[in-house]
Amino acid sequence: MSDDVTPIRQQYLEIKRQYPNAILFFRLGDFYETFDQDAETTSRELDLVLTSRPVARGVRVPMAGIPHHAAENYLARLIEKGFHVAICEQVGEQPIKGLFPREVVRVVTPGTLIEPGLLKGDQNNYLAGVTVVENRAGVAYVDITTGEFSATELQSEDILSAVRAELIRLGAVEILVPEGVDLNNGLSGHLTRWPAWRFEPARCQEAILNHFQVGALDGFGMRGMNMAVRSAGAILQYVQETQPGALKLLAGLSTYSLSEFMVLDAATRRNLELTETLRDGQVEGSLLSVLDHTATPMGKRLIRQWVSKPLLDLETIRGRQEAVGHLVEQGMLRAELRAGLRPLADLERLVNRVISLHAGPRDLTAMRDTLRSLPGLRGLFLQGSGPLEHIVARLHECGEQLALLEAAVADEPPATLANPGVIRSGYSTELDSIIEASRHAREWIANLEAVERERTGIKPLKVGYNKVFGYYIEISRGAADQAPSDYIRKQTLVNAERFITPEMKEYEALVLNAEDRIREIEGRLFRDLCGQIGGAGRLLLETARALAELDSLASLAETAALGRYVRPEVTADDMLDIRDGRHPVVERSLKGERFVPNDALFEPGEIVRVITGPNMSGKSTFLRQVALIALMAQMGSFVPAASARIGLVDRIFTRIGAQDEIHAGQSTFMVEMIETANILHHATGRSLLILDEIGRGTSTYDGVSIAWAVVEYIHNHPALRAHTLFATHYHELTQLSDLLPGVRNYNVAVSEADGKVVFLHKIVPGGADRSYGIHVAQLAGMPKPVVQRAGEIMRTLEQSSGKAVKINPEAAQQMALFPETNPMVEELKEIDPNSLSPIEALNKIYEWQKKYVSKG
Ligand code: ATP
Repeated sequence: MSDDVTPIRQQYLEIKRQYPNAILFFRLGDFYETFDQDAETTSRELDLVLTSRPVARGVRVPMAGIPHHAAENYLARLIEKGFHVAICEQVGEQPIKGLFPREVVRVVTPGTLIEPGLLKGDQNNYLAGVTVVENRAGVAYVDITTGEFSATELQSEDILSAVRAELIRLGAVEILVPEGVDLNNGLSGHLTRWPAWRFEPARCQEAILNHFQVGALDGFGMRGMNMAVRSAGAILQYVQETQPGALKLLAGLSTYSLSEFMVLDAATRRNLELTETLRDGQVEGSLLSVLDHTATPMGKRLIRQWVSKPLLDLETIRGRQEAVGHLVEQGMLRAELRAGLRPLADLERLVNRVISLHAGPRDLTAMRDTLRSLPGLRGLFLQGSGPLEHIVARLHECGEQLALLEAAVADEPPATLANPGVIRSGYSTELDSIIEASRHAREWIANLEAVERERTGIKPLKVGYNKVFGYYIEISRGAADQAPSDYIRKQTLVNAERFITPEMKEYEALVLNAEDRIREIEGRLFRDLCGQIGGAGRLLLETARALAELDSLASLAETAALGRYVRPEVTADDMLDIRDGRHPVVERSLKGERFVPNDALFEPGEIVRVITGPNMSGKSTFLRQVALIALMAQMGSFVPAASARIGLVDRIFTRIGAQDEIHAGQSTFMVEMIETANILHHATGRSLLILDEIGRGTSTYDGVSIAWAVVEYIHNHPALRAHTLFATHYHELTQLSDLLPGVRNYNVAVSEADGKVVFLHKIVPGGADRSYGIHVAQLAGMPKPVVQRAGEIMRTLEQSSGKAVKINPEAAQQMALFPETNPMVEELKEIDPNSLSPIEALNKIYEWQKKYVSKG
């Protein structure tokens, strides 16, 4: 472009050069304008009119603008579509050489939002940073609306899957990764690629040390956690560039270890529908929807976190159970507590808005209302708070802050500081004296209309105000010629004339000057006030978090009371004993039907339960319910059962049915096999395995063989032997219980009276002998001829090949016994290494190699 471009165009281009990857909202008067490519993008994405603007003689560029006051809505839509938006404002009071200085005040990205209207109240808005090197990774996350900032390290052979699982657990909305790291699969968060040098160790460490003004990382427990440091340091740099005002909210950085939580991979989270349903991704119908009876936004966020990370520490689990139990028993206390919590605002986010100076007058009144409720809430625990004591101790009355807000903020202040009336009279003598001094002038103007109508006798006379002329007297056209001689004509409209008087302008000046002064003083007082309240930020945040905990515990107690749940006994052994368990979600959704409870009691030595039964009989429901009960028990919740004893489960794995979701380039069967392989590699003896119809994605023979081998492997591998529920349509697998001592058969009872088939949903010992698939086809409304023909074909098949495919039991046993009776291991046991010379040892190795390796 030529040198003769307008100065404002030059300014624009300079700024745009610094933000090539964001859409630049360039403030011009009351509009944010976008230009060039950005204008084309915004007009397309937001349905805006694309215009153009001259930037040099004979040169015009595309332009699209949005009104500044409506920006939030447009911003939300762009962010949702994955764009970043750099907001460039006019700064300073005066133009310099005819041009206002402008600068980018923040870059809006999904993970750095602060606008309450753009945030989900019931979820944290996490920005995550990720670094991966070989089989290790660092994951850090921050929520700049609550100040939470934490980091961890992971190690795994399949590190990308482990990272993805953690990001899914967090529900991160934006993920910052070094360019070249590919994480995309299955993540809903927005991926922001950043130059790799931003993640360099030294730079990141320095960012952390500088931010927290410390000399070493030891205080954060991060010494030696190189990957965590890189991820957290990158986040700090990113916040610095996008939302510098938020940095001061990040008062601490904690580390966490995934070994504190039950590990749930991404597929398992999805399959168990912990926070959203498989079908439509909604909260309704998920486990969370059953457990969430919270009353406050901070409580909602916390219970979501609890559902996403069941615990592994017995003490902590029991502590939560005690607290829930207390609130279950004390029904009155629970009701009063929940009623007391209901009107509270989002104190956690309010405090952070105050600290970062983003708060408006109504944020302070919301905070005031919330603080007013605190003494009452504390009062509920005057008689003693039992197991809630350590939480109630963090619920501060915050009386000083309340007194300040009561004294300083008007009862119903305007929404923004642009209008006067934010500060209560009596708070500042300086402010009061200006208001008082201008009172007479304001009253004079307020009375002007009545006085002038009286004096002139003109009925259609009005006093109005606009930005250009200030106050004026308006007389409709018909009566305008009766205007007295001291009226000065100022403007002629179609139907009216507007006048002013010299006296009126004098009063106007007094009022407007006073308003400017009032605005200025109120602005100053307001900032001071935020400073003082922000100074008590730690106290207020601690209180907000105590409220969140009480809310979440009361929510679990409410669910338990309403749903007749019991307190499970969580133990250190490997018990799994659930009596009359129910599925928390399905039991709620049954209309008019009774949910049939089922036991899940693993006897000592029992490892795999093979569950056969017709389609639609309730196998999947049963499988999931066992997993959900174990998971609920470890988050400290009560469970839907008559009684439950649950030995700590380190991980729950699920492999459930065929998923509609097609992974890039992989068939459903391939995905099924990958997930099964993952389970067999990672499960331990303390895991709970939920395997639903493994092998059904392929031909019957392949499917049976794979399913068979998987059961054997789980049963026999010394490092596995995990409690497993294995639902299958392959009746052949019921033969396994004769071959392997830890396998038991169960089936879902069916009653067949008078030719009518009824599924009883009851899981009973023994294998099923029929599958009733044709019956289900009939229920589903298949045409009669098809159902009849299917019946005929089935009978023919049964006659020709016997009831089921027979597996040679001998061969199965050999394979089944493999790891425990390996002949090489047996020989090894016989050898005494102390009496063996090196040569003899070497010979033994040659011998083994000849015997076993060449064979195999
Ligand atoms: P398929 O083999 O076709 O996947 P399934 O045996 O896994 O079927 P589910 O999906 O678990 O069957 O259950 C089918 C329906 O039966 C559920 O949607 C529910 O309405 C009902 N159901 C399941 N279990 C119970 C129960 N214990 N009590 C009452 N109704 C139940």
